[in-house]
Amino acid sequence: MKKTIKDVDVSNKKVLVRVDFNVPVDDRGNITDDTRILETLPTINYLRQMKAKIILMSHLGRPKGAVVEKYSLKPVAKRLSEILKVPVKMAPGCVDEETRKIAASLSASEILLLENLRFDKREENNDPEFASQLASMAEMFVQDAFGTVHRAHASTEGAAKHLPSVCGFLLEKEILYFNKVLEKPERTFVAILGGAKVSDKIAVIQNLLDKVDAMVIGGAMAYTFLKAGNISVGNSLIEKDRIDMAGEIMQKAKSKKVGFFLPIDHVIADKISENAQVKETRGVEIPDGWTGVDIGDMTINRIAPVILSARTIMWNGPMGIFEMDKFFKGTGKVAELVAEATQKGAVSIIGGGDTVSAVKKSKLADRVSHISTGGGASLELLEGKILPGIAVLPEKASR
Ligand code: AMP
Repeated sequence: MKKTIKDVDVSNKKVLVRVDFNVPVDDRGNITDDTRILETLPTINYLRQMKAKIILMSHLGRPKGAVVEKYSLKPVAKRLSEILKVPVKMAPGCVDEETRKIAASLSASEILLLENLRFDKREENNDPEFASQLASMAEMFVQDAFGTVHRAHASTEGAAKHLPSVCGFLLEKEILYFNKVLEKPERTFVAILGGAKVSDKIAVIQNLLDKVDAMVIGGAMAYTFLKAGNISVGNSLIEKDRIDMAGEIMQKAKSKKVGFFLPIDHVIADKISENAQVKETRGVEIPDGWTGVDIGDMTINRIAPVILSARTIMWNGPMGIFEMDKFFKGTGKVAELVAEATQKGAVSIIGGGDTVSAVKKSKLADRVSHISTGGGASLELLEGKILPGIAVLPEKASR
């Protein structure tokens, strides 16, 4: 258990807060989804109540150490100010003279947002001098950017070494949910994994095989497993160099008595397009010339009782090319099943950017237990890795 913002006295203190304001911005500078800003409000509001002087910092996009106007955080300062209905000062930079002056003159409950940390290449290099310059503006550090804690950067790892550091409410919530699921899951524990590639999720599958009772596999990665079982998959996306490994994983699942649920039928298309010719296979084989784009009805009927009887569910990766309405059904159905299981008392975590979009597309986001705000970070937690931005924070018991 990490020390949190509630375990320390932040009143009237200058507090440096790492947030994840890496929001999507369109060509005209409009924020198209402000979820990440909204997720930080509990921490920001608490700090305002406590009359802290708040210095927020974040990255946006990948400017790679150069000042690139389209990645400026100015639209974020504006949006945050509209949401909070108080002014949010926008800094000209991160650690320059002018920014430091504004930071030094903040009064109680005032908010300053530093400019994009990644405009300075020292951020991603975890440069100790940059980290110490950031830290020197404040008396305390709060980490609330779950989306970047898997990176050892100056603002996520370096700065925490220079100041009394704690986690904010969002990070605390993410850690609590992942701990609950990975350390003490109520059984049965079902993992639902999908998405494009097995290779991206091998470490997750390996780690979860030691923890779950059943694994439901969908998306393109299922075809590599089917291929390993000598099933024809037509033109479906497979990773030839992972077929052997897929076979080994299935063996391991068998020896550990983990239920391993691959699709038993598919939605197939003659091309990947909204105006493709589409049909269902009604069997596990995919004919030549056709591509698997979603799980079929027989598969949904087979996995439904598995998901509905779960007490713990971890879902990462869509069941098909959910971005296209024609191929959305399987993913949408799984979202409904997860929501129904949650209603019956299961703890459900949705991780990974695409899975979160799919659940939102189903309008079921408020019917699952936890929607993780970090795709990469959640995958690394599921792989069993220690994340540097969390590891650097002190435990509750320590002083
Ligand atoms: P990931 O980032 O690994 O979770 O993968 C998400 C992507 O996998 C989405 O963009 C989906 O369109 C894609 N995907 C899921 N199923 C399939 C499929 N059957 N064929 C091709 N791509 C797929």
